[in-house]
Amino acid sequence: MHQKIWQNCLSLLEKRVSKATYQTWFLPLEAHSMSENELQIKVKNQFTADWIQEHYQIILHQIISQVFGKNLKIKYIFSEDDNSPLTVPPMIEDSLFPEDFPENSDEFALSLNKKYTFSNFVVGSCNEFAYTASLKVAEFLTETNYNPLFIYGSSGLGKTHLLQAIGNYAASSPLPLKICFISSESFTNRFIDSIKNKTITDFNKYFRNVDLLLIDDIHFITKKERTQEEFFHTFNDLYNSGKQIVMTSDRAPIEIKDVDERLITRFQSGLVIDIQQPDLETRIAILKKKSEFYHLYMTDDIFLFLSNNFTSNVRELEGIITRLSAFHSLSGISLSLSLCKEILKDMIPKKSEVYSIEKIQTIVSNFFGLSEKQMIEKGRTNSIVVPRMIAMYLCREMSKETLTTIGLKFGGRDHSTVFNACDRIILLSSHDTELTDKLTHLRHLIEIS
Ligand code: ADP
Ligand code: MG
Repeated sequence: MHQKIWQNCLSLLEKRVSKATYQTWFLPLEAHSMSENELQIKVKNQFTADWIQEHYQIILHQIISQVFGKNLKIKYIFSEDDNSPLTVPPMIEDSLFPEDFPENSDEFALSLNKKYTFSNFVVGSCNEFAYTASLKVAEFLTETNYNPLFIYGSSGLGKTHLLQAIGNYAASSPLPLKICFISSESFTNRFIDSIKNKTITDFNKYFRNVDLLLIDDIHFITKKERTQEEFFHTFNDLYNSGKQIVMTSDRAPIEIKDVDERLITRFQSGLVIDIQQPDLETRIAILKKKSEFYHLYMTDDIFLFLSNNFTSNVRELEGIITRLSAFHSLSGISLSLSLCKEILKDMIPKKSEVYSIEKIQTIVSNFFGLSEKQMIEKGRTNSIVVPRMIAMYLCREMSKETLTTIGLKFGGRDHSTVFNACDRIILLSSHDTELTDKLTHLRHLIEIS
């Protein structure tokens, strides 16, 4: 089974990295075995494992968690004898370093991810201003008055996406532009390394010679005084020579603590824009766009349900589409509203209502055409036992009563009987889709009654 799921991971990876990266690093990987909390991946040798870990660990881990639906540790095992000679694949990520960069400039490892573009960014009232300003900056580099452009907002709302889109747009320009996309954390680390390795001149030369500086999550620069000082000088040099700077942050400049006031003043001197949480229409548009990407067909009632229940950020919306798509491609089953609810059950914020045991018993017994008496009495035929276990399970989930109280209200049964019934339903529903559908339907009936 894990082999089949692994194929799904691979097809998601294929969409996230360049073709060359995919073919060189990911295609040869094999899912070897899987335990409760660990996935063993077969790689050629230690070198390959190290490389993947260093460059792609986050994305690999993210996709594995999404597709397998749980947090799995990755363990590499080697197919090649570790003493065999190493074959080093070529460096294939598109380097953004111009040719005349110092030899060791690779150490900065600056790169853009081609998947973030203006055309796949969904625009709504929450982000329209940020989108328009970013596009203007990308189109008219060095000619806008939006310098620096400072975009801020909560996590998962598309700041990095826009920053990357500016870089990708500029990179496709026929002009030989030097573009630098970097997080402020990386900037800081590189700076510290350059002090340690006595390469500060190269560091300065590099950063003060770019045409477009894109700094992600600038708020991480807080409290690092020497980095701030360095950044201040870089900033001034670029600004004075008319080079464009774009920054993102999770808060407005004024709210960034422990940063030199001179820097804050600089951050505010251009255009400061915020991105808000997406409204209902934008959430639906984003869900539609993401599901198109996965060739996932869903009806409007599903889109409405998803956008009503997942409201906080776009990253979350992406996560649910990935999960639904993984389910669909593995099972081949078309997605209905009730199935989506079941698949996403553990992700949907729980409603706070509590329902009485009596009400649940009535609804479940009506549903199965039984009397409430039959539900409680000692009958042992399957047609009564299963509905009774379902009723106990739903009472446990929706009444918030203890096992003992539930047992008492089911004809004075012991708490362990209720416990076993719940366990049995969980087990059965893991492979019986008809049962899962019934549970979803019953929950719905209880909620609306
Ligand atoms: P932030 O940097 O604000 O934390 P990201 O830019 O990393 O958020 O966005 C999180 C994910 O959501 C990314 O995969 C991004 O492509 C996607 N995303 C965010 N906003 C949009 C949007 N308006 N349209 C399409 N995708 C979006
Ligand atoms: Mg970001």
